[in-house]
Amino acid sequence: MSISQTKYDAVIVGGGWAGSTLAYKLGVAGKKVLILEAGIPFQSDNREDFMETFFMATAKTPESPYSQNYNAPRPSVLDIKAITDPPQPPAEDCKNAKDAIEKDGYFIQKGPLPFGSTYERLAGGTSWHWLGTCLRLVRNDFKLKSVYGVGVDWPMTYDDLSPYYDEAELEIGVSADVEEQAIHGITFSPDYVYPMQRIPPSVLDKVLTEGLKDVVIDGNPLTVTGTPAGRNGISNIMKDGQPYNNGRRLCQGNTNCTPICPIQAKYDATITLNKALQTGNVDILYQTVASNVLVDTNTGAITGIEYKQYQTKNGPQTGSGTATGTKYIIAAHAIEAAKLLLMSNTQLPNGVANFSGQVGKNLMDHPVNLSWGSMPDPVYPFRGPLSTSGIETTRDGSFRTERAAYRIEIGNEGWNWPAGAPYTQLQGCVGEAGLFGKELIGKIQHDFVRQFRLGYLIEQLPEETNYIIPSETCFDNLGIPRPEIHYNLDDYTRAGFQAAEEASVTIFGAVGAAISTENRISTAGAFTYENGVYYTNGAGHVMGTHRMGDSNETSVTDANMKSWDHDNLYLVGCGSLPTGATANPTLTMMALAFKAADAIINSLNVPHE
Ligand SMILES: Cc1cc2nc3c(=O)[nH]c(=O)nc-3n(C[C@H](O)[C@H](O)[C@H](O)COP(=O)(O)OP(=O)(O)OC[C@H]3O[C@@H](n4cnc5c(N)ncnc54)[C@H](O)[C@@H]3O)c2cc1C
Ligand code: SF4
Repeated sequence: MSISQTKYDAVIVGGGWAGSTLAYKLGVAGKKVLILEAGIPFQSDNREDFMETFFMATAKTPESPYSQNYNAPRPSVLDIKAITDPPQPPAEDCKNAKDAIEKDGYFIQKGPLPFGSTYERLAGGTSWHWLGTCLRLVRNDFKLKSVYGVGVDWPMTYDDLSPYYDEAELEIGVSADVEEQAIHGITFSPDYVYPMQRIPPSVLDKVLTEGLKDVVIDGNPLTVTGTPAGRNGISNIMKDGQPYNNGRRLCQGNTNCTPICPIQAKYDATITLNKALQTGNVDILYQTVASNVLVDTNTGAITGIEYKQYQTKNGPQTGSGTATGTKYIIAAHAIEAAKLLLMSNTQLPNGVANFSGQVGKNLMDHPVNLSWGSMPDPVYPFRGPLSTSGIETTRDGSFRTERAAYRIEIGNEGWNWPAGAPYTQLQGCVGEAGLFGKELIGKIQHDFVRQFRLGYLIEQLPEETNYIIPSETCFDNLGIPRPEIHYNLDDYTRAGFQAAEEASVTIFGAVGAAISTENRISTAGAFTYENGVYYTNGAGHVMGTHRMGDSNETSVTDANMKSWDHDNLYLVGCGSLPTGATANPTLTMMALAFKAADAIINSLNVPHE
């Protein structure tokens, strides 16, 4: 049956992480699904092409393997600049979409601080450049308001989400150890095992484990633990008595996880998308950008999603249409989803699903504080996955009444993130220092093998003043508004940076390393707090723009991610998270997507009168 003849149970906007998860579960349940995907399709030879583009790129950023698509553009870290006064770009710079995006980037950044996180718009979504970290939230992360008096509470508890965490960990194929993960009240069902054993620790992990074993900060010991990872390790024996097997290859440890794993040892959402398509119940339209959500203003029901189509990344619009189904799911990434809802304002002036006025607001990230330096002895970075361990004990405590919590990611890629190593240092050795032959080799062998960095992922509270709206003056090649972002860090988060810097001094001191400030590649996120200067970096963890909650006055959806305003509309993705806490958000988001899928299936199964 052709797409135009099929009566769909659900139309999903976005074939990224959340969209693929929903499509798969609905497809397995026998529901007919249509996905509208803005980006190009995934084909098996794409990965080789992406690798080629990555090798050729001068700057190895998260976006470097994936070329810009002016019909479904995305931001790039290379475009993140300090905010000028007045903020750029002026409206006249936006006349030609391609030129404007090339010059200033996709985001319209209004500041006062630049929003440092990016995403991808192609089938599989931002999973194309995720790192692979799969932590669960801790119990108190669900009740920040009631326990610490800040932020808001979630409309669910850890125990409500725990079975869905199991489901997400199985789908991703997470490598981790149950005993290590049982911190701050995280519990698992009896006999639970992760699909795979934890990825072995790096030399750096072991040095920090030993060096920090007696160090305590804010009452918490600095315990180094394996980071749950969506990459293939050694299989565990599962409940059915069989070893876990997802058919993919074992991680080869060549430190390229962000932006792209060459051998798909790391999970990406094309895996789930392909499984969804193989159910025989899921269709997908690629190069199809949702542009308007239609509403029956009498009943409040969503009646269709209008879309625009194109053939090439810089060519003209080549088609348009309206997709219809029984249920509608927006899973287009936190920023694009909010933008689409707010753009859909011809029938409802405040946009779709926006009775609360919260759509696009409460934009959060895990602003990252980077510390880097040299160990007294070699720790052999640039090998293994980008990160194999972290310090999670700092993620909760009574200090959260006053300042943000943080988790510490231990990086195995030397000074790559903060200082562009090894490329920048090599340039310095050869170019500025004029080293050659044995001298150059000696320098590399001495300096590079001692490099290490820590990344503090800092909690950010939901604030109405951090928001995204569709630009009124700047558009993409299809004439769709670009996202305008208003972003700052409040004192709660800034105090978290201060605490993280203090922790760095303690940690570097304990292992005998000196903190470096050498070769910082970006100062765009500089800010001050209590006379100190700090630098924020984006984590890629974009959250909060269509948050769940208990009331239609303060939140956009209920705990099943169903819009309070429209009975047949669901909003799924990291935009659903009411608070961001400190865990990288995507495992939680996938667990929520499975929860939403259950609710949608149940609702579709209820016979209509
Ligand atoms: C560098 C980096 C590293 C990261 N590492 C981690 C990590 O280690 N752990 C972790 O938990 N998270 C990580 N993340 C975050 C993670 O990638 C995202 O949270 C996750 O991909 C979000 O899933 P999503 O489905 O909401 O959006 P996406 O995966 O971005 O999918 C959205 C989809 O919607 C499509 N789309 C967008 N607009 C439209 C439209 N108008 N019409 C139709 N389709 C549309 C897009 O093309 C895309 O396919 C990282 C992110 C970055 C940037
Ligand atoms: S270390 Fe290499 S093989 Fe392993 S997940 Fe990262 S990129 Fe893939």
